[in-house]
Amino acid sequence: MTPAELEVAELCAELIRVDSSNYGDGSGPGERAAAEVVMARLSEVGVEAHYSESAPGRGNVVTRIEGSDPSLPALLVHGHLDVVPANAADWSVDPFAGEIRDGYIWGRGAVDMKDMDAMMLAVLRQMVREGRRPRRDIVFAWVADEEAGGVYGAKYLTANHRELFDGVTESISEVGGYSLEVDPDLRLYLIETAQKGLSWMRLVADGTAGHGSMLNSSNAVTEVAKAVARLGSHEWPLTLTPTVRQFLTEVSDAFGLPFDPENPAPVLDKLGPLVRFVGATLSHTTNPTMLSAGYKANVIPGQAEAVVDGRFLPGYEDDFFKTVDELLGPNVRREFVQHDIALETTFDGALVESMIAALKAEDPTARAVPYCMSGGTDNKTFFADLGVRGFGFVPLRLPKDMDFAGMFHGVDERVPVEALQFGVRVLDRLLLNY
Ligand SMILES: [Zn+2]
Repeated sequence: MTPAELEVAELCAELIRVDSSNYGDGSGPGERAAAEVVMARLSEVGVEAHYSESAPGRGNVVTRIEGSDPSLPALLVHGHLDVVPANAADWSVDPFAGEIRDGYIWGRGAVDMKDMDAMMLAVLRQMVREGRRPRRDIVFAWVADEEAGGVYGAKYLTANHRELFDGVTESISEVGGYSLEVDPDLRLYLIETAQKGLSWMRLVADGTAGHGSMLNSSNAVTEVAKAVARLGSHEWPLTLTPTVRQFLTEVSDAFGLPFDPENPAPVLDKLGPLVRFVGATLSHTTNPTMLSAGYKANVIPGQAEAVVDGRFLPGYEDDFFKTVDELLGPNVRREFVQHDIALETTFDGALVESMIAALKAEDPTARAVPYCMSGGTDNKTFFADLGVRGFGFVPLRLPKDMDFAGMFHGVDERVPVEALQFGVRVLDRLLLNY
């Protein structure tokens, strides 16, 4: 085994043992202690890194390995150090003990995404120790706050330390690169090339306040309730973006199914639990999530509010808001609670070729397919702020029966040690050869 294969599991466990839960309100422990683990492991091999805090305890680490060919643009490899909280009572292990047993590393962050944080570290350490240089500059970034929108992490870094990313044109990070076994001779590796956009909307209706016993033709609660019902029950039409169409075509072909664009359900069935990543990428969605109005049973309030979580397809943002506004009607207005872009890039070019080559070298049955995910990652920030073309590529060869999607933010989150060892072999090839 290579040095990176030998140490990657322990590096991952070491990072899991640092509780870096992000509650989204600044009350968590922060990422500083996890960043210090990264800094210590870098300094062991003589690598200096930039460390900065966007707020007390919110640590970010960035370092650059110089390539042999300065004419090539740089590649960014980024991972977030924060994790979502874990309720220990629900787990069969301590979520922050970093236990390694039965061939798995257990704990919060095992797949999201201290696995990649550790793989980045292991590959970088091996590269430096063996005195090998990549062709292009590789910028490694371990950042804070991805789980709460990246304000203290990716957004802070691109706004305040832009020079760290000079020359970067492409990036890889979560969520993609994992395998879906079709049969022993064919594994699909899902590489994320697109992400839906996000629009959390506050709906507000203004009406006439008054006594609950009297006639009232302008009731704000009624108006907001009708708009919420229209948005929540709207059946958004099936809309296949280029990425989703290519994904469904490839998956159909791999499973020997005909692909009917009007009825993709049989193809989606073949994905098993992974459908959670892609099931919501065939249409826009609008899910009402919050309601608030009123303070007393016999007082009609002058205003009522609701919040709707809207997710729109890349390339169809205008279409989405046009329909939303029609559904809202004239008596309800909307404001953004949060708005984030959608992303879509093509599945081609030298980086894609290099990812495919690195996968195939380590798994001859590999077939890479692009996909769109319904959530978002820090790639959005790096694209929006720096124009970086991002991919989800954390290479993991997974056991056939593993519910990988269920591990994300899930109970008993864990990752196979062998998957990480596979991952560092692929990543090492990619980073050195690209
Ligand atoms: Zn993540």
